[in-house]
Amino acid sequence: MGSSTPTKRGPVRDVYETLVAHGAPARILVDAHPHIGSNLLPNVVKAMRQTVIDAGGEVRFGTKMTDLIINGERLSGLIIEHEGEESELPGDAVILATGHSARDVYQLFQKKNLLLERKPFAVGVRIEHPQPLIDSIQYHYERGLERPRLLPAARYALATKIEDRGVHSFCMCPGGFIVPAATENDEVVVNGMSLSKRDSPFSNSGLVVTVEPEDTDSFAAEHGVLSGIAYQKDLEQTAKQAGGGGQVAPGQGLLDVLGRRDSSTLPETSYKPGLRSSRIDELLPDGVSGRMRAGLKRFGKQMKGYVTEESLLIGFETRTSSPVRIPREQESLRHPDCANLIPCGEGAGFAGGIVSAALDGLRCADALDGL
Ligand SMILES: Cc1cc2nc3c(=O)[nH]c(=O)nc-3n(C[C@H](O)[C@H](O)[C@H](O)COP(=O)(O)OP(=O)(O)OC[C@H]3O[C@@H](n4cnc5c(N)ncnc54)[C@H](O)[C@@H]3O)c2cc1C
Repeated sequence: MGSSTPTKRGPVRDVYETLVAHGAPARILVDAHPHIGSNLLPNVVKAMRQTVIDAGGEVRFGTKMTDLIINGERLSGLIIEHEGEESELPGDAVILATGHSARDVYQLFQKKNLLLERKPFAVGVRIEHPQPLIDSIQYHYERGLERPRLLPAARYALATKIEDRGVHSFCMCPGGFIVPAATENDEVVVNGMSLSKRDSPFSNSGLVVTVEPEDTDSFAAEHGVLSGIAYQKDLEQTAKQAGGGGQVAPGQGLLDVLGRRDSSTLPETSYKPGLRSSRIDELLPDGVSGRMRAGLKRFGKQMKGYVTEESLLIGFETRTSSPVRIPREQESLRHPDCANLIPCGEGAGFAGGIVSAALDGLRCADALDGL
C-alpha cells in the first residue's frame, strides 16, 4: 500500500492503490469518478484474498457465524456453522462486517439484547433510460447524433427535497444493467451495475426517497428496533407478488407513473429476468410514491428530456443502506455492550459503498490495537 495524506474521509488514495495493486485498472487513480466494473472486480477480490492468505490469514467458505459467545462484557469467540455442523471459533476480538443484508445478524443482536439503533435509509425504484438519450441531454447535442468517441457514457446526479424528505438518484450506472439483488426467495429487489466499458445501450439509476425511522413506526409494535427492516421486507414481498414469479419485477413507464395509469406496453429494458406491467405508483408506500412523483417532475425540468415515454421504473430498490445502526463508541470503536466487538462497514451503518466500507475497515483494523 502506498502512503498518502489522509483526507477527511480517510486515506482514500491508499484504498485505490490497494485495488490497483490487486488488478484494478490504474485509471482509477486519476479519474474523477473511479470505476472498476463488475466484470473485473471478481479477479481483484480473488487477488486480495490471496494477499490475506499469504499474510497468514484464513478464508472459510460456506461458513456462517450463528452466535456470539459473550461472557459478561467480553466476547470469547463465535459459534460458526459449516455443512450443517456447529463449532466454536475462539478469538480475542471480532470485527463484525456482515453487510446490510445479513438480517439474521440483526435478529441475533435483538435476541441477545445487544444495543441496536434505528437509522434513516431510502427506498424507491431503478429508473432506466436509453444511454444515447442521457448522453444527448448531458453533452448538449441533438438526439440521434453519435457520442464523440472520447467522451464516456454520460452520468447524472439529481437531488431535491420534497415535504421534508430527500428524493435523489443513487448509484447511477451509465451504460449499465439492472440486476436482481434479493437475498431470499420470497423477495424481489433490484440494483444496478456496469461492466468496465460501460457500453450497454441503457443508463440506470436508483431513484429513492429517504425513509426516517418514524416512517416505519407501523412495524415497530411487532419488530421493535428492526421496524425499518420489516418495512423493507414488506416492499420486497410486494414486488415479488406483483412480478408474479421468479425474479420477474414490476415495471411501469415513467409517463404512466406520473399520469397514474397502467402501462399497456413497457420500453425495452436491460433487466434480464423480465418485467410485468404493474402500478408502481400504487405499490410504493404513500409517503414515497407522492414524493417520488413530485421529485421526478422537478428532475424533468432540470434535465430536459429526462421525463419521457422511453423511460421505465422498475421495483424496488430497497437496499440502499442499512435501516439499523450497530452502534460503537467514538474513539475505541467498541460496541457499548461488548468490549472486544467492533461493528464495521455498511451493515453496521458506517459505510455506503465500496470505498467507504474499505476506509471503515482500515479504521476498525487500527482500533484492534487499542482493545
Ligand atoms: C449489485 C450491486 C452493485 C453495487 N455497485 C456499487 C458501486 O458501483 N459502487 C459502490 O461503491 N458500491 C456498490 N455497491 C455497494 C457495495 O457492494 C457495498 O457498499 C459494500 O460491499 C459494503 O461492504 P461491506 O464490507 O460493509 O459488506 P459486504 O460487502 O456486504 O460484505 C459482507 C459479507 O459478510 C458476509 N456475511 C453476512 N452474514 C454472515 C454471517 N452470519 N457469517 C459469515 N459471513 C457473513 C456476507 O456473505 C458478505 O460476504 C453495489 C452493491 C450491489 C449489490
